[in-house]
Amino acid sequence: MAECPGVFKLSETRDGGLARIRVPGGLLTSAQLTTVADLARDRGNGLIDLTHRANLQVRGLGTEGSPKFCDALQHVGLLAADPVADRLRNILASPLAGLDSDEIIDVRPCVAALDQALQSDPGLGGLSPKFSFVFDGGGVGRVGALSHDVGFLAETTSEGVRLRLSLAGRPTAAMIAPADASALAVALAKTAIHLSSDDAARMSTALANHSVAEVLDHARRQQTDIDISHQDPTPRPIVLEPVLGPVCDARNVDIAYGLGIPLGRLTDATARALAALAENFGDGLVRLAPWQAVFITGLPTQAVDAVRSEAHALGLLTEPEDIAIRVSACSGSTGCMRTECDTKADGSAVLAALRRIDAANRAPMTIHLSGCARGCAHPDASRLLLLGRPDGGYDAFRDARPSSSATSDPFADRIRPDRVADFVIEFANG
Ligand code: SF4
Repeated sequence: MAECPGVFKLSETRDGGLARIRVPGGLLTSAQLTTVADLARDRGNGLIDLTHRANLQVRGLGTEGSPKFCDALQHVGLLAADPVADRLRNILASPLAGLDSDEIIDVRPCVAALDQALQSDPGLGGLSPKFSFVFDGGGVGRVGALSHDVGFLAETTSEGVRLRLSLAGRPTAAMIAPADASALAVALAKTAIHLSSDDAARMSTALANHSVAEVLDHARRQQTDIDISHQDPTPRPIVLEPVLGPVCDARNVDIAYGLGIPLGRLTDATARALAALAENFGDGLVRLAPWQAVFITGLPTQAVDAVRSEAHALGLLTEPEDIAIRVSACSGSTGCMRTECDTKADGSAVLAALRRIDAANRAPMTIHLSGCARGCAHPDASRLLLLGRPDGGYDAFRDARPSSSATSDPFADRIRPDRVADFVIEFANG
């Protein structure tokens, strides 16, 4: 199994060492973001990626890692003391938790409790660093639609607010009180360790390959005091609609502004400027969203125009309808040894071409350029998947995940890199 990078243990990539900085719940301060930007400039190649699970990756580091790099992150609270535990903090949550007037519950306390448990429970030492948790509080930006091992989806029921348990991306009938979520998440993680016989490669499929009753039965043996009721799964699937632009906070007082990051990649200078925007105009906080976006929060209404204009000048996406937010690409040949496709450059050509047509008025579509079937940058389904070929070109699939491409036929193949933008335009034009 490929190693999952962290901060203490880097991945070796084509452009050097890659460190993944886990940001549970996507909650950052501007000072933390500035520290990451400074480290990217001083120790890396100045590139910072925002991942599909709302974490940050610093690229181009020495592959050995560096105690000073770790110390700097620990100093600002971006790294757990225990290197094993840090790689387990894969907690994605609704990015506007506590600010969204449409949310059912603010899931930040659940995130904090689970983060604490993941760092302190010695029984989780065998958990795969790929094992992931999701807390979806309802409202806008439904992160429960994204792939996960253990998810909690807020619902309003006759008994009050409950969290519906989702296992391996599939909602179950099990409902719990929000206060029990952290304990159940830990019990389910231990269940996955047990059911996969400590084989990290099988851990993510362990929960999917057993019945819900069997999984819950085992989890209850770990944690007996959780009250689980049952209610049939909601028939309507959750859909994630990316949110950009100004959003009123729940008190209708301040604004959170969602800014898109083209192809999920920032330079250190842009990251520093983003932190300065949050500091100068807002409450100094930055929230990472899994749709290649960040929110700066606590903006007074009169600051919105200045933020929009400064962010636009930085090359960030400021308008809700900007189609660029729906185009993603993995790191490709400049950063990964597994492909000959320069997915970032080809993705930039696609973005430029889409902006030349009136793409905003077309049916929403997501486009992902993946150098190979691993799909690290976007494992979920895209309306149009362009999957890299060994010759540097692409095969095209509709409504497909990278991992499922091996079992289906492309509807178009052998698309040359210099033709890929035209191909996408033809696809967008139907
Ligand atoms: S999807 Fe494949 S080519 Fe792209 S970054 Fe991941 S491993 Fe590399």
